[in-house]
Amino acid sequence: MNVLDKTFRPFLSAEVLNERIKELATQINKDYIGKNPIFIGILNGSFMFASDLYKNITVPSTISFIKLVSYKGTTSTGTVITAIGLEEDLTDKDVILIEDIVDTGKTMKEFVATLHKQSPASIQICTLLHKPEALQHPLDLKYVGFEIPNKFVVGYGLDYDGFGRNSQEIFQLDE
Ligand code: 5GP
Ligand code: MG
Repeated sequence: MNVLDKTFRPFLSAEVLNERIKELATQINKDYIGKNPIFIGILNGSFMFASDLYKNITVPSTISFIKLVSYKGTTSTGTVITAIGLEEDLTDKDVILIEDIVDTGKTMKEFVATLHKQSPASIQICTLLHKPEALQHPLDLKYVGFEIPNKFVVGYGLDYDGFGRNSQEIFQLDE
């Protein structure tokens, strides 16, 4: 498949994605018995994953979506991550973040640190994809769909320069 100037080859089929997402949901349903978690989908990349995952969630729960924007902070820590669209009060809530892919881990690490300031009961990350070789900011990933090699992927919500999100499967850069 071509997206803009690049060629991608089939990597994870719709069937394989579907099956694994059901497994993740089953695990979450088991782990959150007796709780009312709030799922937070991180846009844009996770919109298809969040949708398919949430269809299989059976514990009483809510879902909300946010966008993460990073900007250069004035502190020594460099970039600061802010969430746009987060209106819920997360105090004492069990939060499950739904992410498309954790690459270096920088985004999630900083965002989780920000969320902790709201005193939620717990925060867990559910990411469809994870590139262990690229991880530079170690973080606890409770639910991981697939550990994949350090190669660029598109499809099923993930983009290349805004394009390529619209497929039921995931493709890997052909190089
Ligand atoms: P991190 O802060 O973990 O390095 O970056 C995570 C973000 O980078 C993801 O949410 C995603 O937007 C983007 N990203 C990392 N690897 C890929 C990839 O292989 N394909 C696409 N489409 N986005 C990626
Ligand atoms: Mg993302």
